Amino acid sequence: QQQVLSGREEKILVLVRLRPLSEKEISVNEVADWECINDTTILYRNTLREGSTFPSAYTFDRVFRGDCSTKQVYEEGAKEIALSAVCGINSSIFAYGQTSSGKTYTMNGITEYSAAEIFDYIKRHEERAFVLKFSAIEIYNEVIRDLLSTDNTPLRLRDDPERGTIVEKLTEETLRDWGHLKELLSFCEAQRQVGETYLNDKSSRSHQIIRLTIESSAREFLGKGNSATLAASVNFVDLAGSERASQALSAGARLKEGCHINRSLLTLGTVIRKLSKGRQGHINYRDSKLTRLLQPCLGGNARTAIICTLSAARSHVEQTRNTLLFACCAK
Ligand code: ADP
Ligand code: MG
Repeated sequence: QQQVLSGREEKILVLVRLRPLSEKEISVNEVADWECINDTTILYRNTLREGSTFPSAYTFDRVFRGDCSTKQVYEEGAKEIALSAVCGINSSIFAYGQTSSGKTYTMNGITEYSAAEIFDYIKRHEERAFVLKFSAIEIYNEVIRDLLSTDNTPLRLRDDPERGTIVEKLTEETLRDWGHLKELLSFCEAQRQVGETYLNDKSSRSHQIIRLTIESSAREFLGKGNSATLAASVNFVDLAGSERASQALSAGARLKEGCHINRSLLTLGTVIRKLSKGRQGHINYRDSKLTRLLQPCLGGNARTAIICTLSAARSHVEQTRNTLLFACCAK
C-alpha cells in the first residue's frame, strides 16, 4: 500500500479491477481473455488473435484479479484516499467501466468500508468534535436529483462565494451511527430505481455521487472563538456506463444536436487527462454538472482515485480495451 501511494500524491491513482466470468457467462461457454499476471500488469491472452497489432500488456498503479475481494481493493487502493477527508483533504473515488463490469458492486463496498473506518476514526479521536454529513445525488442527462428526497424536482447548481459550487436545496443528513448510514444508503438505492421502467437503461446512463462531509474541531478550543475547524468531503462516484462515452466519441464531431451524449462523462475524461498531464493551463471543469460540482475534490490539493472495472469476457473485448485506454490516459 505504501508503495502504491508514496510519491504519487500529485497524481491520480489508477486502479484496475477485473470481474470474473459470471455463472451465466460460464453457462454459455464465454471465455476469459484477460489475466492479471502480477500486482500491476494485466495481459490480453487471446490465442486466436495472436499477432494482432493491439498492445497486450497494460501496467497501472495496481491491478486486482477476479478473485480479489472488495475489501482488498479498499484496503490497497481506496482507503488512504477516502480517509484523507478526516484530515481536511478533499477526495474523490470513481468507478469507471462499461455496464455490468462491476462499478456498483465495487463502489457500494468501498463506500461502506470507508464510512465504517471514518466512524471508527471519530471514536478513537475524542480530543476532537466531529460532525459527519451525508448527501447523495444522481445526474441523469445533465439533470441533478436529490437521492435523499422523494421529490423529483431537478436541483440547480449555484456558485457560493464561501462554499464554492453547491447544489441548491440539497438534503444533507447528519449521520448518527452505522445503522443510520445503512438506512440512507438503501433509501438512495430505492430512489435510484425510480423511473427505471420508464427510462430505458436509466441506471447505465446516470451518475451517482455519495458525499460524506467531515467537519471537526479540537475540543479544548470549542467555544473559545479560535478553534481551527477542519472540513473536507469524500465523494464516492458510480459513473454512467463508459460505453456511452465511446459511442459518443466514435460518432465524433458529426453528432447531431439533441443526440444523447453523456456530457458529464466526456468532460470528466478531458479533465482527468489534463490533470494527469500536470495540471497546467485551462481545465474545463465548468463544461458539465459532474465536473463543476467535483472541482474542489479534483486537482489542486485533492486526492483522486479511479477504479476502472473490466469484464474478462471475450465478447466484451472492445469495451474492455476502451476502458484500459481511458485508464492509460489517466495515469
Ligand atoms: P455495473 O454497475 O458496472 O453495471 P454491477 O456492479 O451491477 O455492474 O455488476 C454486475 C454484476 O456482476 C452484478 O450481479 C454483480 O454482483 C456482479 N459482480 C460485479 N463485480 C464482481 C466481482 N468482482 N466479483 C463477483 N461478482 C461481481
Ligand atoms: Mg451500476
